[in-house]
Amino acid sequence: MEFRDLKLQYNKLKTDIDNSVLKVFENSHFISGIEVMELEEELASYIGVKNCITCGNGTDALVLALLAWGIGKGDAVFVPDFTFFASGEAPAFCGATPVFVDVEKDTYNISVKSLEEAVIKVLDDGKLVPRVVIAVDLFGQAADYDRLRKVAKKYNLLVLEDGAQGFGGKNGCQMSCSFGDIGTTSFFPAKPLGCYGDGGAVFTNNDDWADIIRSLCVHGKGINKYDNIRIGMNSRLDTVQAAVLKVKLKAFKEYEIEMVNSIAGLYSELLRDKVITPDIPNGFYSSWAQYTVVCKDRVEREKVKTILKENGIPAMIYYMRGMHEQKAFYGTGLEAVNYINTLYLTERVLSLPIHPYMTLGQVKEIADIIISVK
Ligand SMILES: *Cc1c(COP(=O)(O)O)cnc(C)c1O
Repeated sequence: MEFRDLKLQYNKLKTDIDNSVLKVFENSHFISGIEVMELEEELASYIGVKNCITCGNGTDALVLALLAWGIGKGDAVFVPDFTFFASGEAPAFCGATPVFVDVEKDTYNISVKSLEEAVIKVLDDGKLVPRVVIAVDLFGQAADYDRLRKVAKKYNLLVLEDGAQGFGGKNGCQMSCSFGDIGTTSFFPAKPLGCYGDGGAVFTNNDDWADIIRSLCVHGKGINKYDNIRIGMNSRLDTVQAAVLKVKLKAFKEYEIEMVNSIAGLYSELLRDKVITPDIPNGFYSSWAQYTVVCKDRVEREKVKTILKENGIPAMIYYMRGMHEQKAFYGTGLEAVNYINTLYLTERVLSLPIHPYMTLGQVKEIADIIISVK
């Protein structure tokens, strides 16, 4: 069994993807072809924001947002401790200081209480200026932006939504990637909406920031790329990837997001009494980048993982350690608060195979094995 079966998905969508990609080969407009513009319009309309700018990957998307805001040396950027490395790497890459914040035990997302404690600590220290909070929509579920906004407003923080895992999720009618002042996503193949290489996008309702980001991702261009008005980077989604994504976005919107939600629903129904299953609060809708359960302790997790592996079923540990424990951040990441919930989760979480094309039989098989673990 595959953790995320991209081959099976390709076989289902093969005719349309092949045709879409072959058209790009025939037109040979490999960079900034018409498909890129069409995709950006479709993405903006799906997310419900004015501007979508595609770029090279989800990490660049975060960097582009921070650069557009002028974030750099002397700035504090608050980042959840329990996330993928890139969420903290991006602000550090811009020269800012990532300040790690604990997460909620039940939703795995940034703890608003811990955020406020960290902001106060930074203000008391007086060395850094609090500027941005990067909220991550971990494993597919949007962070609690209603509560986060209040603290952000109180301390004048910009909200950057790292929606690399959240694309397709919702709270009420509002789509993930539209909650932040700027939202970003990744089209890495294994993300909820993946392309066939690297890709990413930035979303915002602010036209001025959108203009700056469009310039930044093409060498700080002015009128064109030979008129350079700022230092930027080269970060574009190529036309072949846009052609793949146009086909995949249609399937994603029309049925895949619903299919993956039924898979998750069945998992939760079957596993509820054995492990702690993901808590999706009322009104929230996840895109299920991961289906992650919490075991009783490290020993139980190891047992479950081993028995699954013996049965040919891959299970992964996202994430093994908090950001503050990553070597790259020793001495740079300011440890502002304690990380009780991150520590609890890193010792117990286990992510199970999930994708829209899993069968109910496969879910049942996995659940039976987990339930059988003594
Ligand atoms: C994958 C991921 C990224 C980075 O995306 P890439 O396209 O791989 O650069 C950033 N943040 C989170 C939370 C991610 O899961």
